Amino acid sequence: MAMFKSPTVMVGSPEYHELTGVKSDLIYLMMNFPTSCSLRCRKCALAGKGREMGETLSGEERVMIIKKAVEAGCRTMAVIGEGEPTENFGVMAEGINAAHEAGMTTIMFTTGIALDREQANFYCDHGVSLYISLDSLQPRVYQYLTGNGNLDRVLTNLTVLRAVYAAHPSQPIAGRRLVRLGINTTVSEKNITELPAIRAFANEDIQVVVNPPMRRGRLTGTKQWNRFVADNDEQERLTEAARMASDTGGHTSVANGVCSYFAHGVSVDVDGAFVTCGYAGETGAKLPNATTATADYFRAVNARIRATYTALTDYLGHAPSCPVRDGYDDLVRLL
Ligand code: SF4
Repeated sequence: MAMFKSPTVMVGSPEYHELTGVKSDLIYLMMNFPTSCSLRCRKCALAGKGREMGETLSGEERVMIIKKAVEAGCRTMAVIGEGEPTENFGVMAEGINAAHEAGMTTIMFTTGIALDREQANFYCDHGVSLYISLDSLQPRVYQYLTGNGNLDRVLTNLTVLRAVYAAHPSQPIAGRRLVRLGINTTVSEKNITELPAIRAFANEDIQVVVNPPMRRGRLTGTKQWNRFVADNDEQERLTEAARMASDTGGHTSVANGVCSYFAHGVSVDVDGAFVTCGYAGETGAKLPNATTATADYFRAVNARIRATYTALTDYLGHAPSCPVRDGYDDLVRLL
């Protein structure tokens, strides 16, 4: 059995699937949707880049892929957002509705910046668990970290979201309290002292997940990276602080030491290419397109990802929990 430390269980998380008796290799479909974002977060990993992209899927093609993933056994759709879902509600609603009708829950990552009551009701009614990005409770720090974000607006939207979800509580499973809201915090030297305040703000109805920064997207360059992580010692300190503060003891998706969206998933980029996860755009150059894939093929892609992870752990001599943060170039090479 996997080891989890959270007092609460997020609907759609690896622990949720374990509690509900799901044992299959393939559980997650991670989808990148063609969405834009008005924030300019300094930490943004800018999903879906790193190769020559094909034509963006139509809504109809995305719906077909979602249905095929369900046929292949997927139980939860994970949306990390190529951009910001709440600013592109029309695009998101079509995919979430298709997932819901096909029997999948959705885990969606969002800044919450454009979330309103209509969206909150839709997400609540369509089996969506949300992780809201919140790196500071201080307006000036929040604005610095997000480029131009307005903390008051996000907190107001969060209040609406909390009220809507509180009116529809999930029934406990095996004595464990289920939640459908989470806060996703990236810890850096800018906000490390705020972690207790963020935990207190989350109270009992919101799960808190804390991650160290990821050197991708806007944090690739040394100057940008060093604003967040001064040196290797600091990186270790932040990783440990994240582990201690995170309700899951790691990423939102970690189980048995590795990200389940990766190890128990298939991911599909905006152009339909299979990728090893939504942040691993380069892997799309090595994998086929999902548009015409059969359900068996979805399972075969997941088997290939797991086989590559075994080869990666043999090569590295350790098992990375996130093969994008640790060993990524070798993952791409071995795929
Ligand atoms: S493999 Fe890493 S970057 Fe990709 S979804 Fe999992 S934790 Fe996130």
